[in-house]
Amino acid sequence: MKITETIHTFKHSFRLALGENQYVDRFVYSYILLGKNICLIDTGVRGTAPLLQDYLKQINRSPGEISMVALTHAHPDHIGGCLAIKKASSASFCAHHADKPWIEDVEKQYQERPILNFFELVEGPVPVSRELKEGDTLLLEEGKTIRVLETPGHSLGSISLFLKEEGALFTGDAVPAAGTIPIYVDPRVSVQSIQKLKKVSGVKYLFSSWHEPISGNQISIAMNEGIRYIEKIDEIVIDLIKTMPPETSAEELSVRALERLGIKTGKVLPMVRTSFESHRKR
Ligand SMILES: [Zn+2]
Repeated sequence: MKITETIHTFKHSFRLALGENQYVDRFVYSYILLGKNICLIDTGVRGTAPLLQDYLKQINRSPGEISMVALTHAHPDHIGGCLAIKKASSASFCAHHADKPWIEDVEKQYQERPILNFFELVEGPVPVSRELKEGDTLLLEEGKTIRVLETPGHSLGSISLFLKEEGALFTGDAVPAAGTIPIYVDPRVSVQSIQKLKKVSGVKYLFSSWHEPISGNQISIAMNEGIRYIEKIDEIVIDLIKTMPPETSAEELSVRALERLGIKTGKVLPMVRTSFESHRKR
């Protein structure tokens, strides 16, 4: 979907396996930046990579014009389509060094952060040719640069990207959508990252992977909701820890916390257990 002459959004639908023959429908946004060449911010999953390429052809551009893929982090729904893009173009892949090992070695990611249908979502690894850090800039084209902001918490190497000339802030999964299953490795650092994003001046659009595109005063509302949601989960987990025996498993803690959040789920995935467990480390 076209937002401006430069920015198009692409919504990837996919399914996440909870158990055998048990799936939950999910979506993730990636972003297409059109200049002399094309830059992608994240690639979606394996199954939707061909659809993204078809979309480029529909708007009279070619996948071969993709010169750069900036990855907000290493999770499957952001890197799953990388290999297809690599085959179709001579794009370079950029990411933070902390998430690089999981992009270059997807088997390692699968072992360390198991997802049942991981390889349905991720086609394969790609080499990261440029490591990104706070303050780095990526040149989209003459007069249009993308600034890198380190926004860890959701993953250790999560980054956000700001295209100042368009007032466009791309935050990956750094801002949680209130009311959804929380995914992060450090809630305190997540909140700090959102506070940092709130301070970026000149933001006209918030392009989060979990939200529909957001503009105007809805931006600070979404960020504040994200912070409040993490703080609410923190209160719930701390309360549960006080009332439950110390030997309570992470699974049980997660089930009880999800109940209190009003979220029904058949099974607690390891990455969700990690989120709730991370509130214990304070
Ligand atoms: Zn993620």
